[in-house]
Amino acid sequence: MAKIIRLPQHVINQIAAGEVIEGPASVVKELLENSIDAGATEIIISLKDGGKSEIKIEDNGVGFSKDDLPLAFEPHTTSKLQDISDLAKLETLGFRGEALASIGSVSKITVETKESETDNGTSITVEHGKISTPKVTNRKPGTTITITNLFEKIPARQKFLKSTQTEIRKISAEIIKRVLVNPTIRFKLIHNGKELFDFLPISVNTHDSKTFIHPSRIEDVLGKEETESLIPVYTKADSVTVGGMIGHPILAKTNQSHTYIFLNKRPIWDRGIIKSVYAGTNRFVANGSKIPFAIYLTIDPTQVDVNVHPQKLEVRFVNPYRVYSDIEHAVRSALETALKKRHYLLFI
Ligand code: ADP
Ligand code: MG
Repeated sequence: MAKIIRLPQHVINQIAAGEVIEGPASVVKELLENSIDAGATEIIISLKDGGKSEIKIEDNGVGFSKDDLPLAFEPHTTSKLQDISDLAKLETLGFRGEALASIGSVSKITVETKESETDNGTSITVEHGKISTPKVTNRKPGTTITITNLFEKIPARQKFLKSTQTEIRKISAEIIKRVLVNPTIRFKLIHNGKELFDFLPISVNTHDSKTFIHPSRIEDVLGKEETESLIPVYTKADSVTVGGMIGHPILAKTNQSHTYIFLNKRPIWDRGIIKSVYAGTNRFVANGSKIPFAIYLTIDPTQVDVNVHPQKLEVRFVNPYRVYSDIEHAVRSALETALKKRHYLLFI
């Protein structure tokens, strides 16, 4: 056998980044999560060439202090968790302390930031893992992060970058997921200088919507016609509270259309949940047809492990089959009730 060596830290970071950063869309996803966690009410995303040449995210959140800024780019550094037991009471989307270190190890980053209570802001650059000394800068409160030269030193990864159009589609999908469940935040997307969308903030009355996904944000995303054919779901079951919107059976398609799942504010992907939603809808649609849906699950954090996937996309339930069966029943009874009403009978 060859001699075993201890890998240098920058190689460790580049290898670890492989799990978290697949391409421009995962960069945008991580930065969006950070801006949301930083309490931003305005997030502006500007891209060049589908994010392959440049990704810039500007927020009006709490900003970084001068001391925190370089630290944030070291691996396993976070302000969101101190102990593994904190996971059960986590209020933030992030907690792994990996994103900035990972992005910094595979690209060039410039950060300009300012906390609202300080006079001066701070700027820093990170080039393929090399963190510069912070400089004083003048700017408004909040943070602007610019990423260029993604995967410049990792040709194997660069080869997997898709066409500009595909990358834009993936990035928009990541943004849209956050748009749906963060109605009080403005999200604006600019590509090669052209505005693609600008979702303005909505003032939300907490009694407004039991379904958690704001109806006007749904309308912004799906259009008026599809929105009118959505059926609200709200069931407080034993294992989980199921909120959201299910499409009317007339919206069913043979290929999977809009499918959104949120768990305690976090977009997730879980085959078991998708199957149980379809099981709840199957008696209303032709065999194999799929109804679009956006469901929002609220679950006791001790009943789910969110730390099972590097991108936090998958979760593990303590009692998956109870959760799945509660979702199936909630969906079926929402459809049954709605379809009994005359308004919906007109469509059948
Ligand atoms: P995590 O989000 O898991 O803590 P990250 O590497 O994504 O790890 O971020 C590290 C830390 O940097 C965060 O815990 C947070 O304190 C800080 N941070 C990241 N992005 C922002 C931002 N846009 N505004 C203010 N602070 C930020
Ligand atoms: Mg993060």
